[in-house]
Amino acid sequence: MDTYMSLRAWGADRETLQSVEEIARGLEALLSVTDPQSELARLNEEGAAVLSPETAAVLARALELCRETEGALDVSVYPIVRAWGFTTGQYRIPERSELDRLLEKVDYTGIRLEGRDASLPAGMALDLGGIAKGWAGDRMAEALRAAGVQSALLDLGGNIQTVGRKPDGSLWRIAVKDPAGAGTLGVLSAADCAVVTSGGYERYFTGEDGTVYWHIMDPATGSCARSGLASVTVTGPEGARCDALSTALFVMGAEKAADFWRERRDFGMILATEDGRVLYTPDLADRFAPEAGTKYAYEVIPDA
Ligand code: ADP
Ligand code: MG
Repeated sequence: MDTYMSLRAWGADRETLQSVEEIARGLEALLSVTDPQSELARLNEEGAAVLSPETAAVLARALELCRETEGALDVSVYPIVRAWGFTTGQYRIPERSELDRLLEKVDYTGIRLEGRDASLPAGMALDLGGIAKGWAGDRMAEALRAAGVQSALLDLGGNIQTVGRKPDGSLWRIAVKDPAGAGTLGVLSAADCAVVTSGGYERYFTGEDGTVYWHIMDPATGSCARSGLASVTVTGPEGARCDALSTALFVMGAEKAADFWRERRDFGMILATEDGRVLYTPDLADRFAPEAGTKYAYEVIPDA
């Protein structure tokens, strides 16, 4: 998944840790778009495949989340991600005409998945990068719980997954990065949940035109999402959904994200805007502690 992962579990034996590491490696082998041997790469290459149960399950959940976010998350965005060079690091700014041509192939509603049988319209290719780490975190936390571990902290490249509480019984304290600097926006207290951040500062390049381009794409335009947000943090019980929502809400922007939250209220979110505001949902009021002395103005998102 092109990142560093660090796993800390209290009271786990070596075999348990080893098996949890294997879960991440196994998912990577199934879902990597850059490994031509992966199941996803073969589906992309051949346009149809009988998937393993696990890959089928990830894709099924991903499609639900594409629908829930009305396409702000769109797993068929891969041709666009590739055109900008984000999968290879060979960054470039594609011509508008090239993006328009590629956008004809971006539409998750064209993906067919029946049981384990998947097929794609000609020219379409999938990228589960917006959800894979979250899914992996869920499976790893599940395996730790099944092994009787009551306290673990998994950091999957910025996706945090917690099992239980800290060994001393207190809540985990998870710092939310300042997207514009080295400091933090604040600290979230949490237990048994995922905390996932998407931001333009994670993976980006500066183009020859002097503009910064990042790896979160707006499936409507084929360019990086410029919604006025600098980062989105989502917390909730399911890592895959938190991961998907952190990407999708970044695409939507602050106003739509707030509406999306008001219609559901089953996750918590912290938005940092490019104009220096930090907006967080009221359910986090007693769990998110803003950092003192930052340049940000902190506001609780109105309930209604
Ligand atoms: P990260 O994986 O760096 O933590 P995200 O969870 O926001 O960040 O996922 C970004 C990745 O998801 C990109 O690298 C790309 O592969 C893919 N992606 C980018 N934009 C979208 C989108 N609108 N819908 C679905 N996947 C996307
Ligand atoms: Mg994501």
